[in-house]
Amino acid sequence: MSRKPIIAGNWKMFKTVSEAASFFADVKGKAEVDGVESVICAPFTALPSLVEAAKGTTIAIGAQNLHFEDNGAFTGEISGVMLKDLGVKYVIIGHSERRAYFAETDEIVSKKVHAAFKNDLTPIVCVGEKLEEREAGETKNVCSVQTVAAFQGLSASQAAEVVVAYEPIWAIGTGKSSTSEDAQDVIGYIRSVIAGLYDDATAAAVRIQYGGSVKPNNVAEYMGQQDIDGALVGGASLEPASYIALIEGA
Ligand code: PEP
Repeated sequence: MSRKPIIAGNWKMFKTVSEAASFFADVKGKAEVDGVESVICAPFTALPSLVEAAKGTTIAIGAQNLHFEDNGAFTGEISGVMLKDLGVKYVIIGHSERRAYFAETDEIVSKKVHAAFKNDLTPIVCVGEKLEEREAGETKNVCSVQTVAAFQGLSASQAAEVVVAYEPIWAIGTGKSSTSEDAQDVIGYIRSVIAGLYDDATAAAVRIQYGGSVKPNNVAEYMGQQDIDGALVGGASLEPASYIALIEGA
C-alpha cells in the first residue's frame, strides 16, 4: 500500500489576510512537488482568499477547526457546511491546543470527525500524550484511547481517508522533538490500533503524520520511517522559505 505523504502547515492564530496572500504568492509553484501533498491550514479569515489563490495549484487549503453542527445558535462558530461552501478540503480536529484551551473532549472530536465527512472535508485528527503521561509510560494507552474515539462510528472507507497526526504535546512549539524512532514506535502502534478496529488493509491506507517541532532539517528523518507519512507543522510552516523546504524535504 503506497500512501501519499502529506505535509500540513498549521498557522494557528497567525497571519492577516494580506500576510496570507503574500505567503501564498511566495510558495506558489514552489511548495508543489510531485508525490507530496501540500496543505495550508489557515485561520478562518484567510480561507476565502487562500482558496481562490490556490485554484489551479496543487496546494490544498484546510481549516483548523469546525463546529459539529451544520448551523444553529452557536455564536462565533463555523460549520462544515460553511467550509465546504468555501472550497476548503481539510480540517484539523482535536489539536492539543483546542483540547487544552477549549475543552475539546474525545466525544466532541468524534462528532467533529463525522461533521467533516458529512461535508466532504478530510479530517486531520490530532492525538498525543502530555509530558506527564509519557513519563508515566502512558503514551500508547493515551494515543489508543484518542484514536479509538476519533474513529468511532466511521465506515472502513471513511476510516481509510482519515489523516491522523501524532503530536506529543511536550514537543509542540518547544523545539523538543521526538526522535524519529520513538515517533515511529508510537505511530506504528496507532496503525495497529486502527487495524484492530477495521483490518490490515484499512490501517495500511491511513496516513499518519508526526507533529512536534518538525523543521526543514529534520523532516526527512521522520519521512524515512516506514509508518510516518508526513508532518503537521506549526512554527516552521509560517515562513515561505521554510514551508517550501519542508515540502521539498518530504
Ligand atoms: C502544531 O501546531 O501542530 C505543531 C506541531 O507546532 P510546532 O511545529 O510549532 O511544534
